[in-house]
Amino acid sequence: MAICKAAIGLILSSAVCSLWAQQFPVHHQHLRKFCAGTLTVDESGIRFSGPKGHAWTWPYMEIQQLTLYAGSIRILSYKDRSNWKLGKDVAYTFTGKLPIELLERQWSAQLDQRFVAAVVGQASGRSGLKLPVKQLGLIKGTQGTLTFAADAVVYDTPRDARTWRYRDIQFISSASPFQLTITTLEQQFHFQLKQAITESTYNQLWLEIEKKNGRIQ
Ligand SMILES: [Zn+2]
Repeated sequence: MAICKAAIGLILSSAVCSLWAQQFPVHHQHLRKFCAGTLTVDESGIRFSGPKGHAWTWPYMEIQQLTLYAGSIRILSYKDRSNWKLGKDVAYTFTGKLPIELLERQWSAQLDQRFVAAVVGQASGRSGLKLPVKQLGLIKGTQGTLTFAADAVVYDTPRDARTWRYRDIQFISSASPFQLTITTLEQQFHFQLKQAITESTYNQLWLEIEKKNGRIQ
């Protein structure tokens, strides 16, 4: 649902309406419970209006990391927590039925590497080199498919998926034919490959990533 502000004259009206905005009910997660409110997302930032002073506005540049999951949005602010957790920045989590595809499309077009798409989003059904993999997690690994498509690299897995724009990828590396590491601003992702990757395929991937990032011609 696009929200069009009242048209200010005939000439401006189409420009005003071309801006995007989404508004949807969410739960703001507290340590134990939650409060209910409305999240408004548009081209300038994110706003939450809830009860009891739970109302905030974050322009995008005030967000240290914005993560979109299938059922939640996590905002890591630059604000320090109170001193009992010294040095930890305040994070806000909102859950609900989210317009995932639209948010993923808008945010990946507009935001820089501080946006983390922990969803498959519009990337589902993308074609490209597909590698069946296991991601080695700290506690428990996940299994899925890594797709190197024309405009993104997608890790498709039931939980903890990722869609990386090529500019999100700082570099890839491989220590053996059965191992691949993708390094992003968010973290390093270590994958175990279920099929060996040949040296020429790996070199091709590496070259593509470097080219798409404009680091080589
Ligand atoms: Zn709240």
